[in-house]
Amino acid sequence: MNTPDTSAWPTPTLHARKGQLTLEELALTDIAERFGTPTYVYSRAALVGAFDAWRAALAGRRALVCYAVKANSNLGILSVFARLGAGFDIVSGGELERVLAAGGSAAKVVFSGVGKTRAEMRQALGAGIRCFNVESAAELERLDAVAGELGVRAPVALRVNPDVDPKTHPYISTGLKGNKFGVAFADALALYRRAAALPHLRISGVACHIGSQLLDPAPMAEAAQKVLGLVDRLAAQGIRLEHIDLGGGLGIRYRDETPPAVADYLAPLLAVFAGRPEELCFEPGRSLVGNAGLLLTRIEYLKPGEEKNFAIVDAAMNDLARPALYDAWHDVVPVVARDIAPQRYEVVGPICESGDFLAHDRRLAVAEGDLLAILSAGAYGMTMSSNYNTRPRAAEVIVDGASAHLVRERETVAELFAAEKPLA
Ligand SMILES: *Cc1c(COP(=O)(O)O)cnc(C)c1O
Repeated sequence: MNTPDTSAWPTPTLHARKGQLTLEELALTDIAERFGTPTYVYSRAALVGAFDAWRAALAGRRALVCYAVKANSNLGILSVFARLGAGFDIVSGGELERVLAAGGSAAKVVFSGVGKTRAEMRQALGAGIRCFNVESAAELERLDAVAGELGVRAPVALRVNPDVDPKTHPYISTGLKGNKFGVAFADALALYRRAAALPHLRISGVACHIGSQLLDPAPMAEAAQKVLGLVDRLAAQGIRLEHIDLGGGLGIRYRDETPPAVADYLAPLLAVFAGRPEELCFEPGRSLVGNAGLLLTRIEYLKPGEEKNFAIVDAAMNDLARPALYDAWHDVVPVVARDIAPQRYEVVGPICESGDFLAHDRRLAVAEGDLLAILSAGAYGMTMSSNYNTRPRAAEVIVDGASAHLVRERETVAELFAAEKPLA
């Protein structure tokens, strides 16, 4: 039996036990039997561990960790973080409803995004969220008007664009000048003055978010320095901020990346803000959930070819879009080790697109019907899934010790077209 090197796996609660992959105390074969495949499987202990790392790194500071809901918005996941006292970073009215349904507190919600509608503003003001992270001059005016109609004052932070290069994938870098996010640093002062003059706004803070899957703390520290300079220039004009929101973006290990530990990532930032009275706020998504989850899939067919062998699995790009979208690398591990010679496989789904792959050129000792775990799939997995090819979306399960909780049932085909009608 070739025993896998478990220390190489990025999920802390994943083990090999008697030749079988086990998450916490549960064998993944049992989960596949009970719930079928494809299924997203998350470890509660890994979620809690990731959150605790943030909490420990911020101990002794006035700080709020607002989980970025778009990374994984399942109510089960949100409820775990809500119970730990997390705040939430949302980007739509729908995400706000999810947070509230999961027991999250509106008073700890920050609302990001460049396209907030009037209806979303009314909804968030009605719920009493903590802050709107405003991304343009036009949004500032609209928010003031909507708050005026409701007879309330909207708490605002301006999301500024510090123009630093996060050195990550261009699709997930958000803090450079040519980007649709945030307001230009040079315009920030004038916009704050405008916000201060608007009667239905209350200036609460400043926000920035420079990108995702950051592996180097230096760009964030540079952004923090720039933001602090702005905070001081604002104070000199009589505009005092209560909080500074430094966004999310801390990267995780998918393959051989070496992201800093949360404490090491935060140390240079915290040094920048040492002795400051403002509350700090962070919006981590990927670093809280990415390595707490995996996608469990079964091999339908093995298809040897002249140039390549294919392992055709029952999960596809509609379930996990990251490989097709970003050419992202996810580790693929057989759930039960086999004593056969490994071969090189393209791990692909059944969808009619050449881009429908989960992994290229992997050495796997597998047979038809075997289960595979696609690792590091907890973030931007299920939330980016679709129904392409009329494929019902996967089930989702949270493992807690020896228990498995089905936190989302597998979709049925009937549900997929329940809202449609043939022409009479
Ligand atoms: C996506 C996003 C986050 C979370 O990013 P991660 O890389 O998942 O930590 C935080 N804040 C904002 C504004 C975002 O758009």
